[in-house]
Amino acid sequence: MTRSYATHAHKDFVGASREAVGDPHLQTALQRLTLRLTEMQQASFEGLDREAMRERARGVKDEALSHLDRYLAELEASVVRAGGRVHWASDGAEAREVVLGIAREYGVRRVVKSKSMTSEEVHLNGALEAAGMEVTETDFGEFLLQLAGERPSHLVAPVLHKTRERIRALLVEKLRRDIPDDPAHMAAAARAVLRERFREADMGITGVNFAVAETGTVVIVSNEGNARLTTTAPRVHVALMGIEKVIPRFEDLGIFFKLLARSATGQKMPVYTSLITGPRRPGEADGPEAFHLVALDNGRSRILGGAFRESLYCIRCGACLNICPVYRKVGGHAYGGVYAGPIGSVLTPLYDGLPDYHHLPHASSLCGACQQACPLRIDIPHMLVALRGRLAEEGETPFLERLIYRVWRAGLCSPRLYRAGMWAARGLLRRMGRDGWIAGLPGPGAGWTQVRDFPMPAERGFRERLRDLGL
Ligand code: SF4
Repeated sequence: MTRSYATHAHKDFVGASREAVGDPHLQTALQRLTLRLTEMQQASFEGLDREAMRERARGVKDEALSHLDRYLAELEASVVRAGGRVHWASDGAEAREVVLGIAREYGVRRVVKSKSMTSEEVHLNGALEAAGMEVTETDFGEFLLQLAGERPSHLVAPVLHKTRERIRALLVEKLRRDIPDDPAHMAAAARAVLRERFREADMGITGVNFAVAETGTVVIVSNEGNARLTTTAPRVHVALMGIEKVIPRFEDLGIFFKLLARSATGQKMPVYTSLITGPRRPGEADGPEAFHLVALDNGRSRILGGAFRESLYCIRCGACLNICPVYRKVGGHAYGGVYAGPIGSVLTPLYDGLPDYHHLPHASSLCGACQQACPLRIDIPHMLVALRGRLAEEGETPFLERLIYRVWRAGLCSPRLYRAGMWAARGLLRRMGRDGWIAGLPGPGAGWTQVRDFPMPAERGFRERLRDLGL
């Protein structure tokens, strides 16, 4: 994959996909990890009533979103009661300004971050660096991406697009030391750098997996200890959350822990689950002096009441990416925005503009595997179709496609036209084929035959055969 697709947001899904499919390293990496994660996810639910778990989680999300204003107000009151502060950001620019304002208030020069897709969404690192701060990503995968100057390509495995061999080469080049070809040695090399950064940092920035309105607790789930160090070592902790992350009660957390860990990595529980309620209290040995929660809207309240409401149920587990036949071939960078895969094909057009990302609703075979894999049973296929409908309503559909559908509709509305069309198409297609297969279709069908042949139609159609049989 060229550096531009891996390093910058873009709107060229088709070009980026073409490159991705031709990159043997990427294909190996995608094949290895997506299959493994899917198998582990499926095995982890054995013996459990997955449907009942999903129903329970959907019920909690539905309740939280139905009374979002109330639960967000309750969350703010709870965080303040625990000694923290809450800031509201209507969009990415405001979120960046809020975080920069907090950093200035405390005279911050060095920042450590644990993995946060929301901070990617608002392009926070660039803003902090432009203001003269040193920013270090501390999740191993994110640290590697920072060294490479690339963007994450998966929700829970951000460096999934790199093979072990490429990771070692990157570490050797950037850390300027020899490192044995072994994951433990590679992690140790990164750890040696990161420990120093934790020690020097003034501010730690994290995402939020869940925020409990009842208690003001933010929950951060990770498989590395970096989130704990990020939230406890620096003087200031800033947690950045999308407003949909609020859940009503502390007891609601249990069901999400069970679903998230299993769906993300096939584990029964995440390795590290941090529950943070306000800053360090008098007498406590560690924790930050100040805790700030930044709640981001960025288009979420706009989609709360419509056809795309279920997209706000997403707990960013990545299961829909791993199972998706499109993601498995093109990887995360092809999607162009922050969020990839089936849920990215919904979120990116909704957050960043449908006309710019008009390819994404079509980046799906609508096979339904994403909905089956999703721990919240989010109806992604339905939302993709709704986005396609919106594209047609807004006149964003190409002329040729509109023409084809008009002709198709006319044919379906008239049996005589339909039969004539079938007869003509069969004759035409049979002329193009040989030995039962067509090697190259013309026009819009050419993409289909680029990597496989198209079956030649039978000599006599179904209706003719029925007639032959006297039926
Ligand atoms: S849509 Fe569902 S499967 Fe996909 S990341 Fe979100 S919660 Fe996971």
